[in-house]
Amino acid sequence: MGSLFFVLSLIFGCKEPLQKPIRVESMALDTVCQFTFYRTSDSQHASGGEDVLAHIDSLFNRHSQDSELYRVNREASSRVSPDFQFLVERSLDFARLTGGAFNPALGALVDLWGIGSEAPRIPDPGEIEKTLDNCRWEGIIIDEGSVVKPLETRLDLGGIAKGFAADQIREHFKHNSVESAIINLGGNVLVMGEKPDGSAWKIGVQNPHSNRGDYVGILHLRDTSMVTSGNYERYFEERGIRYHHLFDGRTGYPANNGLSSVTVITRSSLEADALSTSLFVMGLDKGFALASHLDGTEALFITEDGNIYLTSGLEEIFYLSNDSFTLSSL
Ligand code: AMP
Ligand code: MG
Repeated sequence: MGSLFFVLSLIFGCKEPLQKPIRVESMALDTVCQFTFYRTSDSQHASGGEDVLAHIDSLFNRHSQDSELYRVNREASSRVSPDFQFLVERSLDFARLTGGAFNPALGALVDLWGIGSEAPRIPDPGEIEKTLDNCRWEGIIIDEGSVVKPLETRLDLGGIAKGFAADQIREHFKHNSVESAIINLGGNVLVMGEKPDGSAWKIGVQNPHSNRGDYVGILHLRDTSMVTSGNYERYFEERGIRYHHLFDGRTGYPANNGLSSVTVITRSSLEADALSTSLFVMGLDKGFALASHLDGTEALFITEDGNIYLTSGLEEIFYLSNDSFTLSSL
């Protein structure tokens, strides 16, 4: 049967998927990365892209002393690789687009709070104010292959690097004739094509008020990316207050605006990633307005009081499955 299929594929140039999905799991950028993909007769030897991930990790892992980012953060001026320069440029584009809600220069503030580290703490207001002086994205300059910035300014590309990685993995798969895949970098999801049976991929939107694996509903997606930023991902609590990892660079505190999560759907995972972080920090009204204004971009906002707001392109493809949430409109 296998050889008959092989012969038919040669004759008809047919790219039927070989039925069994391949699953690959590895760690990169402090995240569990899972890929599920279908090989076709054209892509029998496609790898899972582990080398692509390892390369990206060597550029942008903030916690590895061997990474390019680690080196750049210790200097005022550094020669950087083309991929590094590209991601810094894109992150500055989003800083401009969002009026600084997306801020790739928040490294010193992220370190001060230590959210997600073993010793997170609420800093004194004076410390926060002093640290914010070193978090000005306007002070980052790209100059002929170098990143130039005040010595004390530290880049943090954690809000955009996973999206870049997902896009790169898509390119790797495409290059190897894989047409059908789910790339999941710790909730940063990119779906390639559709399922081999021709139906849409069905991806759950995490319930931000509950454990991982519990969904508010399902999105039916084809050939796009879906990225969520939520206040449940990294946080600590003190005296009943949650301090999470999505910072408002104007105040130096975690954004506290009634949102629990924002999910962005757009073809580029880099854009979905940068925008999900940005829209969360901008809040419901401004974030919704920006998402509605951007072509090919959709978003789903979930508030602390259990309301869900969808941009118009999601109305037909989002299926609410959890009755503690209500679909609302602005
Ligand atoms: P994400 O999970 O993509 O929303 O990214 C969150 C990560 O982005 C945080 O852990 C920080 O490293 C970084 N980050 C936090 N606040 C911001 C912000 N306002 N702009 C850009 N990056 C941020
Ligand atoms: Mg992000």
